[in-house]
Amino acid sequence: MLINNDTIIKDNDPFIREKSMPVELPLSDEDRALLQDLYNYVKDSTDPEKAEKFNLRPAVGISAIQVGVPKQLTAVIVPTLDKDGNEITAEFMLANPKIVSQSVQPAYLDSGEGCLSVEGEHEGHVVRSARIKVRAYDAITDQEIEIRARGYLAIVLQHEIDHFSGTLFYDKIDHDDPYKEIPGALVI
Ligand SMILES: [Zn+2]
Repeated sequence: MLINNDTIIKDNDPFIREKSMPVELPLSDEDRALLQDLYNYVKDSTDPEKAEKFNLRPAVGISAIQVGVPKQLTAVIVPTLDKDGNEITAEFMLANPKIVSQSVQPAYLDSGEGCLSVEGEHEGHVVRSARIKVRAYDAITDQEIEIRARGYLAIVLQHEIDHFSGTLFYDKIDHDDPYKEIPGALVI
């Protein structure tokens, strides 16, 4: 599937609000190929030459609904820290990811969030959980996994999983007071 900034569905298309359905496991060839295309998009989007040549907006994640497929499939590639504090890249090709627990502590990105499906400006705190536990099938390692995510990775996973319910990041901004103080929040 050709995925670029012209083919990605934007928020002026009501389809972006559709619910995504879980996929059957083991993964069909079709679902696996789509996950691979989503992953390749994210990977290539951060290569400036490829991004320019193929019209890719830089991203750390993309979900299937954004390319017109209402299935619970998403790819994320996120810089993060391992448990010893070393910089690593967390890479996933996830089917049916589900948040099974989340911290009470909230978190938000200081610079706000962006989305491949959103071209307008929507500034403000997008309040999410600071830590989450996600269960999913990962097509990179070909197994059921549990991800304990914190900080930026936790934010990205929540952003992508929100796409499955048709939720966009700016739905979570308090439009009366976009920069209101969030008590106890982890600011990333
Ligand atoms: Zn998005």
